[in-house]
Amino acid sequence: MTDFAKTKAAFTIPDGMIYLDGNSLGPLPRAARDAVTNTLQNEWGEMLITGWNRAGWMDQPKQVGDRIARIIGAPSGHVVVGDTLSIKVYQALASALALRPDRKVILSDSGNFPSDLYMAQGLIETLNAGRELKVVAPEEVADHIDETVAVTLITEVDYRTGRRHNMADLTQRAHAAGALTIWDLAHSAGAVDLDLAGCQADFAVGCTYKYLNGGPGSPAFIYVAPQYANNIRPALAGWLGHRAPFDFDLDYHAASGIDRLRVGTPPVIAMASLSAALDIWDNVDIAALRQRSIDLTDQFIQGIEATCPDLTLVSPRDPQHRGSQVSFAFEHGYSAMQACIDHGVVGDFRAPNIMRFGFTPLFIDAGDVEQAIERIAGVMQGRLWDNPKYQTRAAVT
Ligand SMILES: *Cc1c(COP(=O)(O)O)cnc(C)c1O
Repeated sequence: MTDFAKTKAAFTIPDGMIYLDGNSLGPLPRAARDAVTNTLQNEWGEMLITGWNRAGWMDQPKQVGDRIARIIGAPSGHVVVGDTLSIKVYQALASALALRPDRKVILSDSGNFPSDLYMAQGLIETLNAGRELKVVAPEEVADHIDETVAVTLITEVDYRTGRRHNMADLTQRAHAAGALTIWDLAHSAGAVDLDLAGCQADFAVGCTYKYLNGGPGSPAFIYVAPQYANNIRPALAGWLGHRAPFDFDLDYHAASGIDRLRVGTPPVIAMASLSAALDIWDNVDIAALRQRSIDLTDQFIQGIEATCPDLTLVSPRDPQHRGSQVSFAFEHGYSAMQACIDHGVVGDFRAPNIMRFGFTPLFIDAGDVEQAIERIAGVMQGRLWDNPKYQTRAAVT
């Protein structure tokens, strides 16, 4: 049994705020402050350079990777942490393409996050080998998996609509056509139940600052299926992915296994807050988390539809096809979201007209959802969004 009252108490959320944006940036775990202070004072401050050995900084990327492995259904020893998600997408894609040298197509969908597509476009130009990025509608990915496809590059849960792909089915189809799969778990890790090993996914990547609550800019993770880990040649051949970094060999020789996907110096301070955040996950049963997420999102959809006729659901109604967020379309979505934030319900806005609300069961409960519905209904029924102060767009929406 997961004690969600306890997980909720493990976070600092400003009084009166209902935070429905943990899908974009998770809140501050109470223990993170002490963990970071400890790293600063007792490790960096006291140990200085010896911290790499004495505080175990050098081993963190794999150790933290193992803790994430449990959450995403990956075998331990095959996940490593570092860099940003965009970099990890690049690494996975370059590795996958090298395993399928005769195939031209990278298959993705129009619901993917643009950075993933941009990284693919940049890599295609660099390789200059006639590779092609094919972007189809999310519902049509399965129909476009054929013998031309080298790899599918799919974000499992759509960042805008919350639509969830069927990982097991698409992976099986890709394999039947001889293609590899890269799953981006940015909106899945810590949000839904995942079974990378059971689905036989080839590569997976994700970030840790969304549902995993590692803090702004906390490092990303990458998984490579055990059968490939020793066969890929890293495109970003950094010294910490070398088999013996401190030999300072002039030639690159990849480390064995997932270690070869490390690049450079790990972000030790960010790793401290991430580790504190992962402590909370140690006592969470992912199946229970998923059920709670479904209950909360169902409750929200029902409540909003009953009180806000101007909002149109764009997330799948069937929870099996939905991640842990709910999105509504509304012509004045930007100002409406600003008004909601002003009234203590924090979600976000994604162009052109989507109001997005994330449900993170670790710290959101049914009472929060009920209050959020009430406040949003107040904004919509009173047309509170129709006020010039909510129209000006900030750089981050
Ligand atoms: C959040 C997100 C990113 C962000 O990448 P960073 O390099 O961490 O900034 C990339 N891809 C997807 C699918 C995302 O949801």
